[in-house]
Amino acid sequence: MTLDTLPRLPLAHLPTPLEPLPRLRAALQQEDPNRPVPRLLVKRDDQTGLASGGNKTRKLEYLLAQALAEGADTLLTVGAPQSNHCRQTAAAAAKTGLRCVLVLGGNAPRLEGGNLLLDRLLGAEILWAGEQDRLALLAEAAQAQAAAGHRPHIIPYGGSSPVGAAGYAVACQELLAQAAAAGWRVDHMAVASSSGGTQAGLAVGAWAAGFAGQIHGISIDRRADDYQPALAELATQTAGLLGAPHTFRPEEMIVHDAYLGGGYGVLGEAERAALRLLASSEGLLLDPVYTGRALAGLLDLIRQGRFAAEETVVFWHTGGLPALFAYADQLS
Ligand SMILES: *Cc1c(COP(=O)(O)O)cnc(C)c1O
Repeated sequence: MTLDTLPRLPLAHLPTPLEPLPRLRAALQQEDPNRPVPRLLVKRDDQTGLASGGNKTRKLEYLLAQALAEGADTLLTVGAPQSNHCRQTAAAAAKTGLRCVLVLGGNAPRLEGGNLLLDRLLGAEILWAGEQDRLALLAEAAQAQAAAGHRPHIIPYGGSSPVGAAGYAVACQELLAQAAAAGWRVDHMAVASSSGGTQAGLAVGAWAAGFAGQIHGISIDRRADDYQPALAELATQTAGLLGAPHTFRPEEMIVHDAYLGGGYGVLGEAERAALRLLASSEGLLLDPVYTGRALAGLLDLIRQGRFAAEETVVFWHTGGLPALFAYADQLS
């Protein structure tokens, strides 16, 4: 069943590579020779393109097609100061010839590094929310753009509408086709999960493909009991939009919320160790906010013996590299 049914603006470099992580596996085996360590693969969605890539690019292909169909000339979106979503949206706007306004939480930092530096280079206008509610300011900013004669279009937080999530329904099918062609059976996927579009989209793609394995969302900043219903609702809406109606139940959405650490954007020892281990064993870089935390969670599940040695786990590398440089003082 094809899920690629919505208008799509090609922005991403697809398919992204699917690669084995043999040296990471060996390092985990060496820690404890009696521990079952599954085969590990990485899906390189850090290589999707748009000013250093990441998972928002696949969502933006559908979100931009929708914005253009509605005649927009200005994109607005919202996020944290080091938002990858905002940086990728700014890049998509630049590439498409649209204006871009970003509403970022908090106040301007002393040094605009990492994603923020890229937002500026990409030509986005930045509004700092300060103590104000970010979403209220976003709505006000869109009204101000319209009043000034522009045609504004709001890209939702994290790109996580049913239209955006469509990108990951299709991505899931891309991965399963790649794995099948390579002769690898996928038993589990693990992914950093926060605004939900990625995990909900994957759930839709998995369901449509009859995938029998499990999708483990490693929650970045939300407790499972309030996140699972939101994921199920988004997946249900996405499936309906894609012409593959299905009702997802909250308990079907696997969310691990034991790895929230000090909260969103707080780099802890677990994230640091995961970043170092992947970098030194595979030459592969993670980000401090999302993929560092997600791999830390996956490593913990492996060390707990949650997976069998004959199983295969795919880690979705969802990007975030620029944020690494904004955490230099905490990593070096
Ligand atoms: C946004 C983001 C995520 C989370 O994806 P959601 O669809 O918001 O759940 C994961 N990793 C990175 C690097 C991100 O930027």
